[in-house]
Amino acid sequence: MTASSQEPVSERATGPRLRAALDGIPAYAPGRPAGDGPGAFKLSSNENPYPPLPGVLESAVAAAGQLNRYPDMAAAALLDELSERFAVPLGHLSVGTGSVGVAQQLLQATAGPGDEVIYAWRSFEAYPIITQISGATSVRVPLTAGEEHDLTAMAKAVTERTRLIFVCNPNNPTGVAIGRADLERFLDRVPQDVLVVLDEAYREFVRDERVPDGLDLYRDRPNVCVLRTFSKAYGLAGLRVGFAVAHEPVAEALRKTAVPFGVSGVAQSAAVASLRSEPALLARVDTLVAERSRVAAGLAEQGWTVPESQANFVWLRLGDATAAFAAACEEAGVTVRPFAGEGVRVSVGERQANDILLRTAAAFRAGHEVA
Ligand SMILES: *Cc1c(COP(=O)(O)O)cnc(C)c1O
Repeated sequence: MTASSQEPVSERATGPRLRAALDGIPAYAPGRPAGDGPGAFKLSSNENPYPPLPGVLESAVAAAGQLNRYPDMAAAALLDELSERFAVPLGHLSVGTGSVGVAQQLLQATAGPGDEVIYAWRSFEAYPIITQISGATSVRVPLTAGEEHDLTAMAKAVTERTRLIFVCNPNNPTGVAIGRADLERFLDRVPQDVLVVLDEAYREFVRDERVPDGLDLYRDRPNVCVLRTFSKAYGLAGLRVGFAVAHEPVAEALRKTAVPFGVSGVAQSAAVASLRSEPALLARVDTLVAERSRVAAGLAEQGWTVPESQANFVWLRLGDATAAFAAACEEAGVTVRPFAGEGVRVSVGERQANDILLRTAAAFRAGHEVA
């Protein structure tokens, strides 16, 4: 375009023109940090409460000695390790900047203005944000009264315009997981040209044998992609590394949409070391699962309705009492994650933190009308 075809200065916008798709995007609300008193705990982001294992930390520190170099763009050592660990072909694997980063790439690859993306609601708060950024339209299907995905309604919500469906299993923030028979029936109903993303960020915390491993379901279903992360059970939330397992051409689309060198060398090394230290890490996960049972049983004993969680958090549907409960927890020394007017998600943390939660919940019940 030549200079003469530009609009007169007076009619031009006063700042850079941004895509209208960005208007009204809710800001991602990170879990609030722990309070500053000694013995203040953060139970608001589903993080692993344990510090990195010594071997993992050593690998990360050693990799930091190469910070002047770009990382391996292909993440070859990590992909080799993942391919062996999960028995999937190298070509079906793609790593990214956390599994949220990979989810965003999946949207870039599949959806734009006029397209529809289906997910349950309430579910992971990143879904509406990254869907809106893509320009596609969110189709939210309410959870059932039992806090489960309504897979029948989700299958019915599929239209000609549907491009991607997120299935969060177990669901964040309710913790409830979908069983194999229900998930298979759903996958059988979804058209082959719609990508189904099984977000399994909490897979390592699942103990109910009826809950399928997405990697078993993806193998003979070219439209299924599994997302996993090193942020939760593996305790590397601060390093931003997650991965997808998907057939071609989805895996190839992920390679095309990746931020070049997005996963740092430190993250790659720590992830490899984590996979090699899996027994020690999974022993920690067992401890957290035992704590989850203790917290859930303690809350149930107090009279709370706690949906059965297969993740590292529990959900209390507090409705109007949500903010007051979160404030009471903060006061007592544990920061939790409120969803205004709906409920509170509480991560399972150190025993001491969980004890504070249980004491606070009991005192709260004594003073408030709650379900
Ligand atoms: C925490 C979480 C993730 C993982 O996020 P990262 O970007 O890998 O840190 C993905 N999906 C869900 C549902 C989560 O709760």
